[in-house]
Amino acid sequence: METNKETIKVLIIGSGPAGYTAAIYLSRANLAPVLYEGIEPGGQLTTTTEVENFPGFPEGIDGPELMSRMRAQAERLGADLRAGTITKVDLSARPFRAEVDGEKELLAESLIISTGATAKYLGLPSETKFRGQGVSACATCDGFFYRKKDVAVVGGGDTACEEATYLASLCRKVYMIVRKPFLRASKAMQERVFNTPNIEVLFEHNTVEVLGDDSGVTGALLRRNDGVEHTIDIAGFFLAIGHHPNTELFAGQLDLNEEGYIKVEGNTSKTSVEGVFAAGDVKDPHYRQAITAAGSGCVAALDCERFLLR
Ligand code: NDP
Repeated sequence: METNKETIKVLIIGSGPAGYTAAIYLSRANLAPVLYEGIEPGGQLTTTTEVENFPGFPEGIDGPELMSRMRAQAERLGADLRAGTITKVDLSARPFRAEVDGEKELLAESLIISTGATAKYLGLPSETKFRGQGVSACATCDGFFYRKKDVAVVGGGDTACEEATYLASLCRKVYMIVRKPFLRASKAMQERVFNTPNIEVLFEHNTVEVLGDDSGVTGALLRRNDGVEHTIDIAGFFLAIGHHPNTELFAGQLDLNEEGYIKVEGNTSKTSVEGVFAAGDVKDPHYRQAITAAGSGCVAALDCERFLLR
């Protein structure tokens, strides 16, 4: 039975590929990891459809299925996977203190942070107003609702291109709203966009407001960089302008970079606090792949194991 205070060897926060991989390795090392899954068990991959680039699945695999397999593997090897969110941590002394859902307290000898990253929004009031009513940051989750309609994707990176091509397979027309005169995405992704006839890229455009009524989004007011404004008629407005790391819990306690990502020592997972390790998107603004997150979860587990066995 759970008491309100519990002492554990390793606490893993977050349940994406990084967290589950760390749990797999630490279970096999007999270190009894306890993993809290947070508000989005399985992480960002649970909101994707097919994953074609995770090695070992030649036919591809659905994101949620991949995550449920990672979870099952961690569980089979003995990891203690728990529903719940860590709401507070104190890293000022070991054992570290962590609060679960504002109630239970954990004392952990070591900590692996794999809390991932969350999609960014433009910050327009109209965007907030229509969130869930046409405004979304996940085309693969919500695209289905806009079949045969016109939609827009904001951003010019790989995510925006991926989401635009995905939406183009469902929707009548997809506008890409890109603030620069070029796409930042990889050449391959750019070619896919330019070769998709129902995607129109609006270079040097910014969104002034998302327009809508009681039924949800009906359009967007755009401003070209030369100052000319015009509207487009759309039913869906998708953000793909990057992510911010989920590090609010650790601000002031760990060294973060200027974008809020956790700083680690060289190729290791070691943070500025001894005994605290970081893995996955929370420390990686560049690669952000399931396989790199899983790899960094392994690195964190090995670093943590060495730390505990010192
Ligand atoms: P990026 O940071 O690469 O791109 C963000 C895009 O959004 C840029 O075009 C940026 O414009 C634009 N943007 C940012 N803020 C605003 C704003 N306020 N208003 C308008 N536009 C804005 O993020 P991604 O999520 O696309 O990619 C992140 C990383 O993940 C990259 O390294 C990418 O390669 C990788 N990735 C790889 C994939 C794959 O390999 N299959 C798939 C998806 C992502 P600007 O260029 O002007 O800054």
